[in-house]
Amino acid sequence: MKRKFIVANWKSNFTSLEVNQWIERFKNYDLGFTNKGVIICPPFVMLPILKSYLSNHKSSIKLGAQNVSPFDEGAYTGEVSAKQIKEFADYVLIGHSERRKNFMESDEILFKKVELANKYGLAPIFCVQDETTKIPENVKMVAYEPVFAIGTGNPDNPETAEKIAKQIKENTKVTTVLYGGSVTSKNVKDFTQTPDINGVLVGGASLDAQEFYAIIQNA
Ligand code: PEP
Repeated sequence: MKRKFIVANWKSNFTSLEVNQWIERFKNYDLGFTNKGVIICPPFVMLPILKSYLSNHKSSIKLGAQNVSPFDEGAYTGEVSAKQIKEFADYVLIGHSERRKNFMESDEILFKKVELANKYGLAPIFCVQDETTKIPENVKMVAYEPVFAIGTGNPDNPETAEKIAKQIKENTKVTTVLYGGSVTSKNVKDFTQTPDINGVLVGGASLDAQEFYAIIQNA
């Protein structure tokens, strides 16, 4: 059976109080997901809270950041470097469409981010919007997220997503393709049961601990 990844992207949501409330709800559920890799990507400032909760509970859940500086450590005010993130997380989202659109992140910048993530042992989860998005050579995990499906309640159809996942694997060194865009506990299986989709990236629905747990279960 293929291992499935379920990745939560919390975006700029949750205060520390709300993170603790989410944890309180989520910890009622069984954390022993044997064939599932669960990754939570909270805002930077919430990484330490989650790291300490997960290590105290000997949880198999991993952490990811939502962004990384395109520069190494040094005089880059306001940036968080890959070396700093690696103290708290194992993964990092790079190239999310919200960053490409709102922060004008170009392919050149995104490729630099991937290079630095790899340098410090952070696994990039590289987001692509369609089959034409450029993917750096040293990326193993990609999230296919069509812009029309993000936060709209209008997911892509699983056949198209599967076709694109297959194409990405055939044309690159990518081994793991996730689907992202309006995933819920009701539609997750439609994506994860296809041969080439290895999991999902979940935005809005991951903010509700109970719904996120249902997504993990149904994936
Ligand atoms: C996302 O932004 O990565 C995402 C998949 O959002 P949503 O699940 O809310 O569509």
